[in-house]
Amino acid sequence: AVMVGRRIKSRAKWRAVVEILKELEEACDTPVGRLRQVVDAMAVEMHAGLASEGGSKLKMLLTFVHHLPNGTEKGTYYALHLGGSYFRILRVHLGGERSYLDVQDVERHPIPSHLMDSTSEVLFNFLAFSMERFIEKEGKESNSQGVKRELAFTFSFPVKHSSISSGVLIKWTKGFEISEMVGKDVAECLQGAMNRRGLDIHVAALVNDTVGALSLGYYHDPDTVVTVVFGTGSNACYLERTDAIIKSQGLLTTSGSMVVNMEWGNFWSSHLPRTSYDIDLDAESSNPNDMGFEKMIAGLYLGDIVRRVIRHMSQVSDIFGPTSSMLSEPYVLRTNSVSAMHEDDTPELQQVARILKDSGVSDVPLKVRKLVVKICDVVTRRAGRLAAAGIAGILKKIGRDGSGGITSGRSRSEMRMQKRTVVAVEGGLYMNYTMFREYMEEALVEILGEEVSQYVVVKAMEDGSSIGSALLVASLQS
Ligand code: BGC
Repeated sequence: AVMVGRRIKSRAKWRAVVEILKELEEACDTPVGRLRQVVDAMAVEMHAGLASEGGSKLKMLLTFVHHLPNGTEKGTYYALHLGGSYFRILRVHLGGERSYLDVQDVERHPIPSHLMDSTSEVLFNFLAFSMERFIEKEGKESNSQGVKRELAFTFSFPVKHSSISSGVLIKWTKGFEISEMVGKDVAECLQGAMNRRGLDIHVAALVNDTVGALSLGYYHDPDTVVTVVFGTGSNACYLERTDAIIKSQGLLTTSGSMVVNMEWGNFWSSHLPRTSYDIDLDAESSNPNDMGFEKMIAGLYLGDIVRRVIRHMSQVSDIFGPTSSMLSEPYVLRTNSVSAMHEDDTPELQQVARILKDSGVSDVPLKVRKLVVKICDVVTRRAGRLAAAGIAGILKKIGRDGSGGITSGRSRSEMRMQKRTVVAVEGGLYMNYTMFREYMEEALVEILGEEVSQYVVVKAMEDGSSIGSALLVASLQS
C-alpha cells in the first residue's frame, strides 16, 4: 500500500510538472498570425521613433553615418570593441581593393566582471591599458611614419551621438552598472584614458556594434541594408532615407541616407508573448522595465528564463531531487549551456546530465532530462521566431517585405519587383546556437512567404562589428 501510495503521489507531482510545461508552451506560442502582429507593431514603432524624440520605446538613434565603406579604402586601422561579454582589439590592413582586406592580430578577451560595476575611470583605464599592450606587440616598424593610429571604438550600448565620433551614453544594458558614466561622452573618456598613457591613438569614430557589422556587410555586398546582432544583447540598425528621419529635419543638412541605430532591445508590444518568468526576470534585473524585447531574445537572458522554469518545477515536485540552492542563483545557467543541452545528441542525454549537475542538480532520470530539453526548445523557439518578426518589421518599414511599406501606395506590379536585400547578422547567439538560427530563419520564410524570401538573404558576419568599425574609420579618411 505504501508503494502504491508513493507511486500515486509521484504521478501527481509529474502531472504538476507537465502542467507547468504545458502552460509555458501556451504562453510562448508564436503562431504566424501573432508574429505578423509583432511585425506590424515593429514597423509602426519605427515610424513613431523617427517622427519625434521620445515618440516610441524604439529610440531610433542617429549615427551620423551617411556613407558606408565601399572597398576602395586603404591603410591600417584599429578597432577596440566593448561588447556585452567580450572585448576585442584588432588591426586591419586595407589595400584599396575589396578583396584586399587583411585582418591582423585579433585579440578577444572576456570582460572581467568586476569592471561592469566599477567606475568609468577604472573601465577606460583598463581599455587603454589593453590597447597599449596590443600595440606594444607590433614593434616599432608598424608606426614608423610617426602618424597617429586611427581607431574605431565599437561600443555596444545606446549612445546619443552629436557626430560620428562623439556621443553620450544614454543608459547601460546587459548588466553593466556604472551609473556615473551615463551622460558622459564615451569617445572622450576613451581618448582621455589613452592620452594619459601617452598612446599615439586617435579615437576617430564611436560605433555601435550593429553599425560596425553593417559596414562590413556593405563593404562585401552593397545590397546589405539591415544588420541585426544576436549576442549577449540584441539590436538592429539599417540604412534610412534622411528625409524619413522627421525628428531631426533641420539638424541634418545632408540629403541621402543615414544609418539608424534602432536599439530594438527596448521594443515593446502587447502582442509579445510574455510569461510570468519574463516578468520576474525583468523585475529582478539591473534594468527593470527596460529592454523588454532583448530580455526575450538575447543570449544573456535565455539561460535565465530556462533556469526559472526549472526552478518553478523543482518547487512543485522533487523530480530534480532536493531543491538545489544553485538553481536560485540568477544567471548560473548560461545560454551556451542551454544550446549544449538543446543540441545534445547523445542517446542518454549525457550532456544534459552533466550541465544540470554543474548547476547543482544531480542524477536526474532520462525522462526529466528530456523535459529539460523541451524547456530549452520552447524558450529558444520563441526567441528565434520573435527575432524573425523583428527583422520582418524592419523589412516592412523600408518596403522590402513584398508589401511596399506601410505608407507608400505602390502598384501590384511594383510590389512584385522585390529588390534583393541582404540582412547581415552577427553575435554569438546566432553564430553558435544552431537551433536558434534555424527557428529564426524558418519563421522569416513563414512570415515573408516563399516568393519574397528568395530576395532576402541572411548572411552571417563573424567579427563583423569590430572589423566593420575599422572599415568605417578607413572610409572617413578617404
Ligand atoms: C545594446 C545595443 C547593442 C546590443 C547588442 C544592447 O543591449 O543596447 O546598443 O547593439 O545590445 O550588443
